[in-house]
Amino acid sequence: MNRPLSPAAEANRYRTCLQVVIASLPQGIGIFDENLQLREWNQGFGDLLHLSPENLSVGAHFTDLLRLAAGNGRLGCGRAENPEIPVQHLTDQARQFQPQWFTYVHPDGRSQHIQCEPLSVDGAAAGLIVRAAIDPHHHDECAERDHLALQGFMRTPDGLILTDDAYCIRQANPAACQITGHELPDLIGQSIFGLFSPQQPKIADDVRERLDQFGSWSGEAEILHKTGATIPVNIRLAWLDDPQANTSANHIWILTDITELRHQTEARLRHAAQHDALTDLPNRQALLLHLDQWLSNACRQQGSMAVMFIDLDRFKIINETLGHPVGDEVLRAVARSLSAVVRETDYVARLGGDEFAIVLRAIAMSADAAIVASKIIAALSQPIEIGEHRLHTSPSIGISIFPDDGGDSDALLRHADIAMYHAKATGRNSFQFFSTEMNRATSERLDIESKLRHAIDRGELLLHFQPQFAAGGDEPTGVEALLRWLHPSDGMIGPDRFIPIAEETGIINVIGEWVLRRACHQMADWIATGLPPLRMAVNVSARQLRRRDFSETVASALAESGLPAERLELEITESAVMDNPHHASITLQRLRRMGVTLAIDDFGTGYSSLAYLKRFPINRLKIDRSFVTDIEHDLNDRAIALGTIALAHSLGLKVIAEGVETSEQHDLLCGNDCDEVQGYLFSKPLDSAAAFAFLHARCPAR
Ligand code: C2E
Ligand code: CA
Ligand code: CA
Repeated sequence: MNRPLSPAAEANRYRTCLQVVIASLPQGIGIFDENLQLREWNQGFGDLLHLSPENLSVGAHFTDLLRLAAGNGRLGCGRAENPEIPVQHLTDQARQFQPQWFTYVHPDGRSQHIQCEPLSVDGAAAGLIVRAAIDPHHHDECAERDHLALQGFMRTPDGLILTDDAYCIRQANPAACQITGHELPDLIGQSIFGLFSPQQPKIADDVRERLDQFGSWSGEAEILHKTGATIPVNIRLAWLDDPQANTSANHIWILTDITELRHQTEARLRHAAQHDALTDLPNRQALLLHLDQWLSNACRQQGSMAVMFIDLDRFKIINETLGHPVGDEVLRAVARSLSAVVRETDYVARLGGDEFAIVLRAIAMSADAAIVASKIIAALSQPIEIGEHRLHTSPSIGISIFPDDGGDSDALLRHADIAMYHAKATGRNSFQFFSTEMNRATSERLDIESKLRHAIDRGELLLHFQPQFAAGGDEPTGVEALLRWLHPSDGMIGPDRFIPIAEETGIINVIGEWVLRRACHQMADWIATGLPPLRMAVNVSARQLRRRDFSETVASALAESGLPAERLELEITESAVMDNPHHASITLQRLRRMGVTLAIDDFGTGYSSLAYLKRFPINRLKIDRSFVTDIEHDLNDRAIALGTIALAHSLGLKVIAEGVETSEQHDLLCGNDCDEVQGYLFSKPLDSAAAFAFLHARCPAR
């Protein structure tokens, strides 16, 4: 008969049963009570921890879980630099009866998954069950995987930091330690946000917000290195949501040190900001920056410097006719030539367009600059071969000298520019030193330019007309329209003062068109008022002739005024024609077909190549005033004037002589078959009313 057992005996019996069951389990298992004291365990548990039964018997040292864990320093990341950390973490978790996984590394290097599960009775924590994971196969794989992951973690050049849900650092790899300058123990437990430079107070909020919203965060930030230096890093941050990760960490931070990258980017940006992309020469900004520095040095050392302003003479035409790619190649070639000509210490910059500058940083005297300028001219007069093109450009160079021509970069560059402009005016392919006289001329020029822009609108322009006559001087054949500018405060400004400026600035296009329309209207009006049909000669500048729509403009002026085309004569200089003979020839042919007549103005002062000119549909040559002035005394002038008449006639061209002031000049010209004459001898240029009266008195009424 079985007697009922006492409660104590009953409990004892169950405990024995439990011990048997536990002992029979294939994997190591230990059960801890609510005070984390070891209560039950099996052989496998002792083997797992390499502890003898004596060490685990009741009251022995290792029956306390906390001591057990501490004694097994290789728990968790058993080979981490500081094995205490995971132990600390594990015991923290254990105290709170949190379930957890970790990897236990045996002294022989094998690793083993250990699982801790809370034991709760009636909802209250009653202890922990600690056991080894079962599947030995799985275990090996995991061990292998863990081992590799660990290697990766330790060796990756990126800083890796694991943080918990409060963003406290749980783990960090050596690279993270290097980036921050802190040892691992100093990092563990700290808020990761403490690592950032205080310049970014918002980063914590930003990270929290975006991580919640998008599950990841990335950006650039600055780490405050232990030394106080700031280290720019690129950060990628993500949740760790692998439940098998058996770590208390919630996030992984990947920190890439971008100090070097940033240096490179900054260097690239700096270079780009100070260099011209096409030629890679320093740009204007860089030039000014350096120039100011050198000037203050030169000032201290009482040295001399030269600034050269270089402009290419025919570049615009090359660029416009052959296209920008060819133009770009020319600029590159020029940049190379300039760099090759100067010394290492000199400085070549591209200011923009076809403008370059060179600073000669140490010259003994201005003649040194002249030598360099000559070398540049020689170098750039070599033809440049681009594809099938063999191109010629030449430089105009202006030179200013420090300290004579200016004390700062601005003045020196401006004065070199002015000198360049004068070099261009005195004939291309040359250099000029700056002088104060140039400066005066330039400011006057600027003044005229700004006033000229309003001259038409304000009705300040008018035409005077100088009669032209058949040889003998009695019978008027026409008039030449000559532009006048009556400025309200400056008075009458002569065309010689403003036409060249209008040509350079392009204002001549508007002005020239105004002259053309005004002149056509005037002659049409005169004819309508009863004057017999005379010729109206209008001066056309090179710039106007270059325009593709020039013949249309002429046609429209004729149509608008009603003047018959044969009454209009255009006076064109040889150089305007030779500027671009092909294009000029097309335009002139069109004008001739319209019935307009053409005269070559200032003949004898330019190329004077009649053989060449005869290819153009020209009606008349106008012998320049300079040959007429001295025709009685200067035998050269006389030979040219008279030779021109003979040659022109042999080509079927008429000849008119301008600037006839004396009857001797007149007689000499007429005695040698000059067809027509114009000059003060007969009449000065007259205003509209006076011209009409003059012509009316001398022309037989119709
Ligand atoms: P140009 O075409 O050679 O004009 C002749 C210049 O000689 C005129 O000067 C005229 O007044 C001057 N002249 C005429 N007969 C005599 C003379 O017997 N003795 C002297 N000493 N001079 C005489 P102006 O009017 O001052 O014009 C100067 C230049 O301005 C012209 O030279 C021409 O190149 C330019 N010009 C004038 N009007 C126009 C215009 O409407 N369009 C363009 N593109 N240029 C113009
Ligand atoms: Ca003329
Ligand atoms: Ca002339």
